[in-house]
Amino acid sequence: MPVNFALALHGGAGPIRNSDTSREEAHMGALVDEGYALLDGGASALDVVVHMIQGMETAGFYIAGKGAAPNRDGDYELDASIMDGTHRCAGAVCALQGFVSPIAAARAVMEHTPHVLLAGAGAAQFCAAQGLETIDDPAGYYTPAAQSGADTDALAHGTVGCVVLDREGHLCAGTSTGGVLNKMPGRVGDSPLIGAGTWADERVAVSCTGQGEFFIRAAVAADISARMAYAGQSIDAAGAGALADMQKQGGDGGLIAVDAKGNITLPYISHGMRRAARTSAGWREVAVFR
Ligand code: ASP
Repeated sequence: MPVNFALALHGGAGPIRNSDTSREEAHMGALVDEGYALLDGGASALDVVVHMIQGMETAGFYIAGKGAAPNRDGDYELDASIMDGTHRCAGAVCALQGFVSPIAAARAVMEHTPHVLLAGAGAAQFCAAQGLETIDDPAGYYTPAAQSGADTDALAHGTVGCVVLDREGHLCAGTSTGGVLNKMPGRVGDSPLIGAGTWADERVAVSCTGQGEFFIRAAVAADISARMAYAGQSIDAAGAGALADMQKQGGDGGLIAVDAKGNITLPYISHGMRRAARTSAGWREVAVFR
């Protein structure tokens, strides 16, 4: 049966094997079914990406949105990006403080500015002017899903993301993150960088998760589309190849991607990756380690 629409989510790569991930699996399973129903009803890829990511941003147990961890100064600086493959439009924010939904901020940059990426105070000023929901008491709002600690030298991290092919054939990808634990003030990873952590065009939509410094140096998200275009690779081969190139630089992580035919790939090279996917051809997966 041909795939008419498809979606995939990730809730970050790198959980410790044998840790209890049942809460995340239950949450992602329900979310992917909600996204499936929205797409079945004709919702756009763009709307579903934002809705899915907001569901994970507000959950409080992924390292994004409410679950983000503070930087070394105790401030919460968040990053997000979104890309619409059909129109090749993109928007992103980085080091954003004081707003509930970084992915909504990224969408607003895409739709209401001539720019792609707004940073720090300027991004916050723009979000306020757009009337986006603010956080008045960061210490009371955030519930860090992971604590900064001994392993933070290894760029311990987490992120959420979503990729969608809708009924009209539009591809869209989005990514939102609190970044790596114990990060320096002002540190920005791959998640808000178009081509590194997020990519969508007419071929494929990609959202990455992992040690952002390495994903930037391998331009992982855009590399997948390039491999498909120039080398004629399948989405599976392109995803695995781009990750392997990143791994050679010394990083770990994973990614989710969907192509224009609804093929999905969910590769990772860390212990696990929280993920969920569903297609109109009847395939559904919710998993972390398997
Ligand atoms: N890639 C994110 C970053 O480096 C972290 C993650 O995906 O876990 O900010």
